[in-house]
Formats: sequence, structure tokens, C-alpha cells
Amino acid sequence: MFKIFSFLFLFLGIAFQANAVAPVDISQPQYQIGQSVLFFEDADNVMSFSDVEKVPDSQYEPVNNAICSNLFTRSTFYYKFEVLNPKNSTMDRLLVFETPWLDSIQVKVISPDQMQQTSLTGNMFPFKQRAAEHPYPNVEHLFEPGVSTVYLQVKTRDPFIVPISILDKESLFKNHVSIYATSMFIYGIIIAMILYHFILFASIQLRYYAYYVLYLMSFLAMNVSYNGYTFQFLLQDSPVIQNWIQGTTIFLFAIAGLLFAKAFLSLDKYIPLAHKLTKVMIWLFVSVMLITAFIGYHEHVMFAIGMSVIFSLYVFAIALLSYLKGNKTARFFLLGTTAGLVGTSITALTVMAVIPYSHMGYQAVDYGLAIDSILLSFALVDRVKSTEKEKLQAEVSANTDALTNVANRRAFNQFCEQLDEKSHKLYQENLVAMMLDIDFFKEINDTYGHSVGDIVLQKISNLLRSNTKSKDFIFRMGGEEFLILLPDTNVENAQKVAERIRASIEKMVIHKDDDTFSITTSIGVAEFLPEDKSFLSIIQLADKTLYDAKRTGRNKIVVAIR
Ligand code: GH3
Ligand code: MG
Ligand code: MG
Repeated sequence: MFKIFSFLFLFLGIAFQANAVAPVDISQPQYQIGQSVLFFEDADNVMSFSDVEKVPDSQYEPVNNAICSNLFTRSTFYYKFEVLNPKNSTMDRLLVFETPWLDSIQVKVISPDQMQQTSLTGNMFPFKQRAAEHPYPNVEHLFEPGVSTVYLQVKTRDPFIVPISILDKESLFKNHVSIYATSMFIYGIIIAMILYHFILFASIQLRYYAYYVLYLMSFLAMNVSYNGYTFQFLLQDSPVIQNWIQGTTIFLFAIAGLLFAKAFLSLDKYIPLAHKLTKVMIWLFVSVMLITAFIGYHEHVMFAIGMSVIFSLYVFAIALLSYLKGNKTARFFLLGTTAGLVGTSITALTVMAVIPYSHMGYQAVDYGLAIDSILLSFALVDRVKSTEKEKLQAEVSANTDALTNVANRRAFNQFCEQLDEKSHKLYQENLVAMMLDIDFFKEINDTYGHSVGDIVLQKISNLLRSNTKSKDFIFRMGGEEFLILLPDTNVENAQKVAERIRASIEKMVIHKDDDTFSITTSIGVAEFLPEDKSFLSIIQLADKTLYDAKRTGRNKIVVAIR
């Protein structure tokens, strides 16, 4: 019998010891005192403070984490901890809860002489009710010398994250200076980017710029609301509105993000299925936002957060896929989205105590999403750049002959237009035009086949390139006819160049199976004289002279007599 009693005693002792936590010494600021706190869950929401005070410590559980958290719960949670004032006089301290969105926190302090005092905070109550005008809910208490017991009753329909600190007012504000400064810095950048991209959109009318502006605006709205700035500066007397905009702005952020991703990643072009799916998701987000607004606050917030997690994973996936499918402009987008995801994950892991608590860790989601928003503007610049490059490449390939890689007739026409527009004078002096045509080319096609004819054309183009200077122009004007323009050249020199070309072509031996053959060309040369009115007239003259060469025997050069 004695054995059983002693066992029971030992067991109770262990149970009691496991729950015993040292009082919090408040002579120094104490941040995140979760390790010194016991909690008790009232899942049916039926208990009151007086009921909870009667609950023995053995039925409480230690929090064992810097932050007390229980994500989505409908329970009321009670927390209990002891506070030691080691001095001889009372100490004025704030109890601060570092999560701006907590609905209702009731605080009851039992002083060493068993006097009781209660106070209330949270964003269900007007902002003015707070002891310190601060985005974090807080209450003030005068702690008597000795050990006081503190009971907290916390209820919220939002993510249940309760970081508790005990500080004096000065420490609270001093500690928050860097957070304020960082927030204001980030908001400043975002506002500047909203204006900048709005102006860009107004001038270039690209739809994804508008969506980006929308995305930035919704990010800003979401961030200032869930960080409690809207409550502090705008909605002091409207706690109901303050509560609702927290969830709604998260929905809007995700919707704007989807719209932007859909347009920016050109999903219709790269991943048509994702394009359709994204459209469906946008409607789904809008519907859930509206439906949950009618069902209730708890559902609205829960779906907003749950769906925003789905949103960020989804956008990351489609950005990655789009990049892998060859969409180069998706890389900055992917980088931004990754920053957002990493930030969100760090905050989640901090709240779950997988990584040790730090302020940066707790706020990582803010930093991650801010970096995301900023990196996306790089994505826009990158996209404009590569679109321009693509245009240029398309222009070049439209102006290049696919077989010989020299400029084609289209390029020649453009060259003439540009010449008319600006630099007509430039070529009026010392410009020589040469028109070259292969002799009896039809016969080569007929004898050796069209593909051999093609090879001949390629060989001749290469030969033309190697026999001219880089400032000269070579155009394939049609079939086997080439135009060569030689700027800064007099007719004597041009004639030498023409002769060199003619002779090299004549010397060229072409192999077909066991057979070999060679070809000849005729060239007409015409010089631009200062009295010439039109550029085209000397091209026509060169052409006419070419036919003189053909007529008078081929494999020769004829220079137009002026
Ligand atoms: P001439 O000495 O009078 O210039 O005689 P020709 O046979 O060279 O002149 P013609 O204009 O009668 O023939 C040109 C031939 O060039 C006809 C056409 O089949 C051929 N041709 C045109 N373009 C190409 C091409 O891209 N590849 C090949 N293999 N042949 C081409
Ligand atoms: Mg010919
Ligand atoms: Mg011809």
C-alpha cells in the first residue's frame, strides 16, 4: 500500500515538476517567454477565468516553444505564468503580443497579496484602448514586488500565433524602430514602383504592366493590413473593417498574382493547359472570396491563407515549367517567386519552432514577398529586353536569304528606303554597283540537279564575301543574280575587284560524284556620279551592262560608259 502511495506521489511529483516553470524576472525586458508558460485548452469555449484558476497545474501543459501557436483553432486558450518583480517598488510593464491580428486577449494578474486586476486588448476592440499606441496588441500593468501570477485568455479566428513579451514602453518602441524603418523603406520602394509601372502602362499599354501594378497594390494593402498599420493609422475606430480586410486583401493579392503570372508568362503560348487552369483558379479564388464573406469571418481568413499557400506553390510550379519549356523571361519571375516561397517557409518553420525564434525569421514572409515584388520588376525589364532582341532577330532573319546567308531582296528594298530617308548623300560619291549573274546556270541545274545548283550558289556567296570588304554590301537579288555595292571605291578599283571575283569563280572546281565541272559569271559595273539623281538608276544601269556582257560572250566584265 505504501509502495503504491509512494509511486503515486512520485508520479504526481514528476508530473508537477514537468510543468513547473521558473517565474519571469521582469527587471530586464523579456521577449518571447513561451518557454516559461503553461497552457490549457478549452475546446468547447465554456470556461471562465474563475474556472481556469481552479485547474491544477498538472492539467496544464508547458508550451516549450518561444511562441505559443496553434494555427487554426476554434478553441479558447488559457496561458499561465509567473512574474517576479525582484525590486522593492512596483514596476510598470507592458504585456505585448507580437501578432497584430489577434482578436481578443484578456489578461488577469493576481498580485502577491492576492489582489486581482483584469485588462483587455486585441483587434476586436478600438485601437485607442491599447496602453501603447502600437500595431501589436498590448496591456499595461503595475507589478507589485514579489511573484505575481498572470492568466491570459486568448481567442482568435485568425492564425493562432501568440508571441508574448514583457517590456517597458521604451524597450517596445526602441525594439520596433528597425521594424518600422524597414517597413517604411519597403513601402517607399513599392509605392515608387507602383507609380513608375503605372506611367509605363499608360504609355505602352501592355496588359501585364497593369497586372503588375495591381499585384503591387494588393501586396501593399495586404501587408499594411495584416501588420496592423491600417488599424493604427486609418481604422482606429473600425475594428470590424480592420479584421475583414486582413483576409480579403490576401485573396486580392493571390488573384492579382495569378492574373499577372498568366499574362507575364505567356501561358497561352508556352503551357496552354496551365493557361486554362489559371483562368479557372482565378474564378475559383474570386468565388471563394465572395462565398466565404457570406459564410463567416473564420472561413474567410482560413481559406485566404490556405489558398494563398496553394497560390504561391502553383505560381512557382508554372514559372518553373514555363522556364523549362523555353520561356527565357520566366527566370527572374522564378527567382522572385522563389524568394516569396523561401520567406513564407521560414516564417512557417519559425512559428512551428522547427528553427529557433528570431525576429527576422518571424517576419521572413514580409521580406520574401517584398523581394518577390521587386524582383518581378526586373522580370519586366528583362522581358522588354528579350522581346526587343527577338524582334531584331526576326528582322535580321527576314532580311537574310536562307540558302546563301547573304542579304535578300527585302533587305535591298529596306536599304533603298533608308537611303532615301537619311543618307542619300553618303553614297552619291564614290559608290560603285556590280551586278553578277551566273552563266548558263539553268544547264547546271538540268545536268547535275537542283541540289548541286544550290551548292554552287552557296560557294559563290562565300567567294563574294571573301573577295569584298566588310563595309561592302552583297544582296542576292533573285535566282542566281547578286548585287554588290562598293562604297568609297572608284570605278578602276571596282573593276579590279570584279575581275578578281570573275577569275576566282572560273577557277573554282565543283565535284559531283566522279564528275567535275566549273562555272563562269558575267558582271556589269556602274559607277554613281555626282549628277545622278537616283540611286536606283545606277542599279538599273549595272543590270543593263550585265546583259551587255551576256550578249557579247559571257564570262566577262563590262563597265558602263558614262
Ligand atoms: P544566263 O547565262 O543567260 O544567265 O543563263 P541562265 O541559265 O543562268 O539563266 P536563266 O535565267 O535562264 O536561268 C536561271 C536558273 O536559275 C533558272 C532557275 O531554275 C535557277 N534557279 C533560280 N533560283 C535557284 C535556286 O535557288 N537554286 C537553284 N539550284 N537554282 C535556281
Ligand atoms: Mg544566269
Ligand atoms: Mg538569270
